[in-house]
Amino acid sequence: MTRNIDEAFKEATEFIDIIKKPVGTVSLEERRKIATETVENFRDYINKGFLEYRKSVTEAGEFAVTEWMGQGSILKDALDREFIDILGGFGLYSYGIRHPKIVEAVKAQLDRSPQYSQEMLDPLRAKLARVIAKLTPGDIQYGFFANSGTEAVEGAMKLAKFYTGKKGFISMLKGFHGKTLGSLSLMGKNDYRAPLLPLLEGMRHVPFGDVEAVEHELKYAAAVGDDIAAVVAEPIQGEAGAIVPPDDFWPGLRQVCDKYGVLLIADEVQTGFGRTGKIFGVDHWDVAPDIMCFGKALGGGVVPMSGFFSTPKIWEVMEPNPFMHTTTTGGNPIACASALAAITVMHEENLPAQAAEKGEYVMNRLQELSERHPGILDKVTGKGLLIGMHFVDDEIGYHVASGLFARGVITAGTLTNARCIRFEPALNIPMELLDEALNKMEDVFKSLPSS
Ligand SMILES: *Cc1c(COP(=O)(O)O)cnc(C)c1O
Repeated sequence: MTRNIDEAFKEATEFIDIIKKPVGTVSLEERRKIATETVENFRDYINKGFLEYRKSVTEAGEFAVTEWMGQGSILKDALDREFIDILGGFGLYSYGIRHPKIVEAVKAQLDRSPQYSQEMLDPLRAKLARVIAKLTPGDIQYGFFANSGTEAVEGAMKLAKFYTGKKGFISMLKGFHGKTLGSLSLMGKNDYRAPLLPLLEGMRHVPFGDVEAVEHELKYAAAVGDDIAAVVAEPIQGEAGAIVPPDDFWPGLRQVCDKYGVLLIADEVQTGFGRTGKIFGVDHWDVAPDIMCFGKALGGGVVPMSGFFSTPKIWEVMEPNPFMHTTTTGGNPIACASALAAITVMHEENLPAQAAEKGEYVMNRLQELSERHPGILDKVTGKGLLIGMHFVDDEIGYHVASGLFARGVITAGTLTNARCIRFEPALNIPMELLDEALNKMEDVFKSLPSS
């Protein structure tokens, strides 16, 4: 692109003027222009591949839907069309979009100090750590905040290496922990890993839910002196399709980790803060991990936020030189204000209980749907509002995802990977919207040739 500094400034100014217009006062004509230009901008400045992907997930040329605003569980596009959000930003929107109490706290903090000096002590970070220490199981107490889930996982891996002096990790097949190089080393799927090998040394992957396989690896690793720092797993696998492990898995992991003297890391980036019907995923099995990773919903869906927490005993290794792990913007005041407000919302709205109840309702209704329209759904998995709909094949899953989209319901599924679609709405989604989404689901099931 030809350099043109004047035009760069002019375009930025014009767009800021549009952003600053009061809600509801940007004309339809302006929004239409924005929608058209957004497609061009994605094509020319972000990645053409996204447009191809969008085309592949939508029927009837609706690929270029431009997000404009959202509230609760409703998204609106630039042309005023409404969608029910049952994707929840893959777990980001546990509290819904723009929860008023979270937005209010962030606005108030913005008026005081949005970022910190890097030198004085920051009261918000300190308070949030104290609050999370009180929410978490076992001896978990000290924490470090960052901006994304993958950063929380990277920090947890560094902590485990510092503390144990060992380099290896055991993680789970189909597990997902983020896409930076350390987290990718843990990933249990070849697609995103293979082109980047070799990643970190000493990685081993075992089937999710199989404690014996974990113990075998620990035994062999010890036998050859190639020792393991930690075992890493999601309490319930998210990206893999809301896969719930057998009930003896987490207690068993705790046992073998203690037996072999390795740390247990729970990646709660997606399961944390109410999503699965308890405050944390590990609460279903009353297990206290050595390190916990948080992200997504932690920031209340308003400001990006993540963190990893551990016990005083383990955290000691971070004390002689607290600069061994740092970040400039992680745990900034607006992110902490957002997270603190989100935690109060979780409590006031009793969101873990809402997730448990609504989750059971959705699973039952999907089961009924499946019985009325056989040959579409293979199975439904999950806990709380982390639910996976597993279709008999990719093609049917794709038709369901695109059929829902055409009926104004947002999910995620692609032409090549729609065997499983996640049902992961805000935990406070109103029952009427949940029913509307499920009714539209039945409508789509009815329209499929196989039913
Ligand atoms: C989404 C996710 C991550 C990565 O979070 P990002 O913010 O996308 O980096 C890590 N672990 C789990 C379990 C996740 O679901």
